[in-house]
Amino acid sequence: MKIFLSFAVLVAGSILAQPSAARDLVVSRTLIEDVSGTLTIADVAHREGKPVGPSLSIGSTQSVYWMRLEVQAPAHGSQVVLFIRPSFINEIRLYEAGPGDPMGWKTRVIGNRIPFRQRDRARFSLGFDVNTTSQGGTFYLRFKTISPLDIQAQALEPAEADRLDHKRDLVEVFFVTSMLLLLLWALHSYLLDRQPVVGLFALHQAAYTLFGIAATGYLAPITTARFPYVADWLNAILYLAISFTSLLFCRRLFKPYEPPALLMRGLTLLPFTFPILLAAYVLGYNAFAINGNAVVIKITWIYFVVVAFSLRKESTPRRRYLQVFFVSIFLNNAVFWLASRNDWIASKVNLSAVQTLVIDGLVIGGLFALILHSRARQTLRGAQRAAMNLILVQKKFEVEQELKKQYKVEAQTDYLTGLCNRRRFIELAERELTRAIRFQRPVALLVIDIDHFKATNDTWGHSTGDLVLKRVSSVIRHGLRDEDILGRIGGEEFAALIVETGGDEAFEVAQRVCTTVADACVSSQGGDQVCVSVSIGLAELNGRSIDIDTLLREADEAMYGAKRAGRNRVFVNKGVATEQPRW
Ligand code: GH3
Ligand code: MG
Ligand code: MG
Repeated sequence: MKIFLSFAVLVAGSILAQPSAARDLVVSRTLIEDVSGTLTIADVAHREGKPVGPSLSIGSTQSVYWMRLEVQAPAHGSQVVLFIRPSFINEIRLYEAGPGDPMGWKTRVIGNRIPFRQRDRARFSLGFDVNTTSQGGTFYLRFKTISPLDIQAQALEPAEADRLDHKRDLVEVFFVTSMLLLLLWALHSYLLDRQPVVGLFALHQAAYTLFGIAATGYLAPITTARFPYVADWLNAILYLAISFTSLLFCRRLFKPYEPPALLMRGLTLLPFTFPILLAAYVLGYNAFAINGNAVVIKITWIYFVVVAFSLRKESTPRRRYLQVFFVSIFLNNAVFWLASRNDWIASKVNLSAVQTLVIDGLVIGGLFALILHSRARQTLRGAQRAAMNLILVQKKFEVEQELKKQYKVEAQTDYLTGLCNRRRFIELAERELTRAIRFQRPVALLVIDIDHFKATNDTWGHSTGDLVLKRVSSVIRHGLRDEDILGRIGGEEFAALIVETGGDEAFEVAQRVCTTVADACVSSQGGDQVCVSVSIGLAELNGRSIDIDTLLREADEAMYGAKRAGRNRVFVNKGVATEQPRW
């Protein structure tokens, strides 16, 4: 979706940027090169020039160029604007024959170093207001600049020149606004997730935007008499910087697609032309630096296309999008370059430098939008996957916790009766005993053993024995309070810790247990009533400081006493070895 959107913006930008076909009043245009810069208008006026078209691309040059323009009279009035693009030419001097005296040349000057108030027209585009006779007129323009000399000189009716100026301002505003927007977007994205490719794009975008502003002549207002070269320097440095930053950005962009190692090495080496060309410029070899960079830029366009078509791995955005983008940038620049060298192509395509800048900027902007879009989608997918994994881990953790809990309960519970097993009983009873000792509270322990249980098993079978065990455990549980601790500590042996209870009261509890067990019979598989009794031994803490093993042993001894005394009864061990039957 974004890719189509960016192409829509691109098309809109191109249409907006399309220079309308202005009616050129120039009938003949000839060029004279002044290598040493010493020719005078008198010398030039007698020389034969080389015929040239409206667009002229000379590139970086040390020479001065003279252009002779034969202009026809306009349809209305006599006023004509000699309209010159781009605005980034240091100095253009106009010579026009004075009235009545062909040798009295009137001259005035414009250029990016000339303040608005000294210009014929207070506009960014350069232009002279001249008057023609009914036969037209002859004008000479002397061009002198340290920037590359790529010019278009036309003679237009004033209204036409104004229209072009307005259109150009609109394009410039469109260019600067969209480029700044992209820059802010890139900075914002970089600050959010610090992706190096986005950071490098932001750097390139900053250089590109500034270069666009400089190259279209909009730095003229900052030019001062004290620093007349500031705008030129900035323009040159930014011109060098755009190829450098685009190399850094694209190198990073291509990396995940694993281009062949040799091509990748080229992408590493090409940026080193930047310090070399910059040093050359600083040392005064301006033409070398600017022309060298023009070569680097051309190599770079082709190089990027070659790399884009030799990527070995797929990544985001997809390879074919990169191919489309780099071919678009290549074509845009190639057509512009050809148009600046060939009048026929120029008449067909009519691309201006600003238009090329806008299209390039938008193509790169589209590419950037696509990168961010696909990276964001990738991040989103990653986040969704991570969230899913997290949910799974959480689920697994919950299941494990549940199992752990279950294992713990199982490890502490007797499978048949559901009571505490021996280990758990000892653990709980020990804790309670410690508390009772510390707070000097009464506590009593019962050891309950089923009488002749072996015989029960032998007579009615093991499963009936199990039923009996369950029934007895349930009867005992109901005979105690909730806070009392009950466990199955042996095959047919139970233990109960009666908390906050002294001997007499505990004895009553034990007796009640004895009675209820004896009354609670179960039915065997054969339908017989199976009844059992229990023998109970009771031991109490009685203010002593003893451990659970001792108390258990005492209760056990009492229980054996009960057995010996005939079973189905309660015996008490009062802390002395003697057994005292209480029943
Ligand atoms: P006493 O009155 O002297 O205690 O005699 P007893 O037969 O109850 O004692 P003994 O220790 O000789 O026998 C205990 C029996 O308990 C032996 C064993 O088969 C039975 N038993 C132990 N655990 C289980 C069990 O889980 N289920 C069943 N059905 N029987 C069990
Ligand atoms: Mg026993
Ligand atoms: Mg027994």
